[in-house]
Amino acid sequence: MPGPGNEVIGQEEIQELLDVMKSGYLFRYGSLDDPKYKKKVYILENEFARYCGVKHALAVTSGSAALIVALKAIGLQPGDEVIVPAYTFVATFSSVIFSGGIPILTEIDESLNIDPKDIEKRITPRTKAIVPVHMLGNSCDMDTIMAIAKKYNLKVVEDACQANGGSYHGKKLGSIGDIGAFSLNIFKTITAGDGGLMITNDTDLYKRAFGFHDQGHSPSRSGVEVGQRNILGLNFRMNELTGAVALAQVRKMDDIISTLRSKKAKLKSAIADIPGKKFRTLNDPDGDCATLCTVIFEDVAKAAQVAKKLGTTTVDRSGWHVYANMEHVNHWLAERNLPHDKGAYPQTDDILSRSVNLTVGVVDAGLGASFGINIHSTDEEIDIVAEQFREVYS
Ligand SMILES: *Cc1c(COP(=O)(O)O)cnc(C)c1O
Repeated sequence: MPGPGNEVIGQEEIQELLDVMKSGYLFRYGSLDDPKYKKKVYILENEFARYCGVKHALAVTSGSAALIVALKAIGLQPGDEVIVPAYTFVATFSSVIFSGGIPILTEIDESLNIDPKDIEKRITPRTKAIVPVHMLGNSCDMDTIMAIAKKYNLKVVEDACQANGGSYHGKKLGSIGDIGAFSLNIFKTITAGDGGLMITNDTDLYKRAFGFHDQGHSPSRSGVEVGQRNILGLNFRMNELTGAVALAQVRKMDDIISTLRSKKAKLKSAIADIPGKKFRTLNDPDGDCATLCTVIFEDVAKAAQVAKKLGTTTVDRSGWHVYANMEHVNHWLAERNLPHDKGAYPQTDDILSRSVNLTVGVVDAGLGASFGINIHSTDEEIDIVAEQFREVYS
């Protein structure tokens, strides 16, 4: 069982998909006069932009593609430094590297997101951008991050791949910085199997991103625009099949999130009184996607013992999202004499060694999240899980 969107796939997705299949036309561009052209990707972009309260959305093939397109749009040059958290999915690092930049790893705080206090220490004359990652469905401290970006004239690309539908002080995540990036892989809030979305309020950035995602063309082209292509691009275009499923899923986002929020609130209150632990800091509790519930213990040994008894692991030992466990990234950093081995980010190591992720809507052993509840859990099942946690703890 992966993310919540995947769990609620139903008639709506089937209908949208059949609409495309029956037309027999699968490419994202077409003629508006042609009844075969169902423009699902186009509608998806418009609805998602409206959902996020921004001017532009661009559909792409993955969250990684959304990040690369975003970094290209802001004009990242070879050797530019990009500030990223030490706790994130590998794609945050690799998208910076494949865009020609150098990821500069930064400590996290007890929100499990990038620590703004550590950001300023990492800024150099080569710093071009900050990529705050809204990990596990929750916002970074965006007010402080945006103030730092303004002070040093840096671009902000929000990696909202794990936080689609979340918000911060009333604004949708991804809409606060210059560009926001989202993923539609099956572990995320909503899914189309794979796929991605990018949003921005800046029309110039949108045009650059669009061109980069489609061989230099401008938005909504109907033909090949020989003579008018200003930038060199690649192909990260979404097809109509993916667009159809993603469209049905976007329309389910608010239901998914409100369901998860009520289940998470029940789980949290059932274990709130247990001493020796706290919950992860939420920079805006009202904007939580509620896909996961992170418990932070006072004691490292206690955290490890509880995790083991629950059949899961502390976050530092989950394979996928912790800098020290990414040997492929670490080889790259080591060749450039950049800090990488376990111990290089002691504050991050300490917090993650005391953290356990309980599942709410996302079940992903790669996040150290294999124990907890899911989007279908009944009140009774939530009580059982809370009781198991209590027993193991004492
Ligand atoms: C999932 C994820 C991505 C990449 O998404 P893909 O669609 O798998 O390419 C990027 N960053 C973070 C933080 C993610 O969790």
